[in-house]
Amino acid sequence: MNKVRTRFAPSPTGYMHVGSIRTALFAWLYAKHTGGDFLLRIEDTDKKREVEGSIEHIIKCLHSLGIEYDEGPDKPSQFGPFRQSERLAIYQKWADKLIQSGRAYPDPYNPNELESFRAQAIAEHKPFLYRNHRPETLDKWDKTRPLRFKSDPKAYHWHDEVMGELSAGQEAIDDFVLIKSDGFPTYNFAHIVDDYEMQITHIMRGHEFIASVPNYLNLYEALNINQPIFATPPPVMGPSGNKKLSKRDGAKDILEYIDEGYLTEALINYIASLGWNDGSTQEIYTTDELIKNFALDRLQRSGARFDERRLIWMNGNYIRNLTIDELAAKAKDFWPAEASAYDDEYKKNVLKLVQERLKHLSELPALSNFFFIDLPIDHELISSNKKLSSYSKQQLEELLKTVNQELATSNFTVEDLTDKLNHLLTITDQSPAILFSLIRIATTQAPASPPLAESMALLGKEHVMSRINAQLKDWSS
Ligand code: GLU
Repeated sequence: MNKVRTRFAPSPTGYMHVGSIRTALFAWLYAKHTGGDFLLRIEDTDKKREVEGSIEHIIKCLHSLGIEYDEGPDKPSQFGPFRQSERLAIYQKWADKLIQSGRAYPDPYNPNELESFRAQAIAEHKPFLYRNHRPETLDKWDKTRPLRFKSDPKAYHWHDEVMGELSAGQEAIDDFVLIKSDGFPTYNFAHIVDDYEMQITHIMRGHEFIASVPNYLNLYEALNINQPIFATPPPVMGPSGNKKLSKRDGAKDILEYIDEGYLTEALINYIASLGWNDGSTQEIYTTDELIKNFALDRLQRSGARFDERRLIWMNGNYIRNLTIDELAAKAKDFWPAEASAYDDEYKKNVLKLVQERLKHLSELPALSNFFFIDLPIDHELISSNKKLSSYSKQQLEELLKTVNQELATSNFTVEDLTDKLNHLLTITDQSPAILFSLIRIATTQAPASPPLAESMALLGKEHVMSRINAQLKDWSS
């Protein structure tokens, strides 16, 4: 069998959603699994939809996730160029072949005429088929009009590696546009030429293209070329599971996830799980394992539900399994500004305390800022605490004074602080929910914090005592 060659063929429309990245990922995993090539082709033939900077954006997304293409706009090969706008002469050559064989003709109608044909079909409750209006005599093409395919309507049965046996009747076949009046080819024409010229063996793309496959099969025949293998992954559905994932479901551009501190390994792992599994119960895979285990026959047919909570869970899982040095390297750009005054050792110790709770790296400032700054006293923390709010200010003040005295004699090692905290429980006869919450609030002014004794030890005696005193002063003023 020929070397596998797959492609990712995005249009530069500015947004790289989970569904597109998943298509790229599957095509890449399959190529790498089989020792084949994966290439990036930019489908920029619809100038109206093009958004500036999108090509760079696409490349950056793929690069950030480690989905490295073997050939592409910035990786030339004998199969390039890889931007369709630079391949117009190639499409022209193939269009000429169709014209010569009598399988393409200029569209004689103007948009208004086309519109009235469409309106007529609607009025008659019939599907609109352009070919019902195909002119009797086919003019010579002067390129001022769209060039259309002269189809050969027939029913088709075809095989899709994922979706199985598919079929459609001849009503699915029409005379579609090959080249528009602006000189650019349509997707329908260009991708067929490119996949052939680039020796693509497997096409993986969005589900929405299945309905057009009969037209493509008709064109492959007219061009006398073999079709590649189709392997259409299931659609990515929104959280409700009954419609396709959209921005409205809160799905973000893939770079936004990266900017929020999702680890690329976790993103890859999660996205690969949308519609694929290897038949085992394993959930966490390294990228190498994904490459090794990926198989087209393990792609599911039914829609895969995008569940951000699962992504968050998976990301937290990845974060917890990092060594502190690995986590420190990844967290480098996520610290609160004030952390820059602290050395790496201190920051690593902070990470050790928050690692367990960190679900994505942009949570780092909120979880760790009290290690770097004295947060202002927040009265809400006590008033909104179910248990503490039932105590009077005097009672709380008394308690905290006792804490202050006890801690004054501590050397602030974790062991000693643990002893002192336990001793305080005995002498105050309070529950941990009361006493430790009070100490936590006084020493952090944060709604939640890592284990208390460990946090206090890292903050150090000076900071802890001065924060307790600040809280006492606030009450007495
Ligand atoms: N340019 C098409 C899109 O962005 C790609 C379809 C394909 O992969 O062939 O939807």
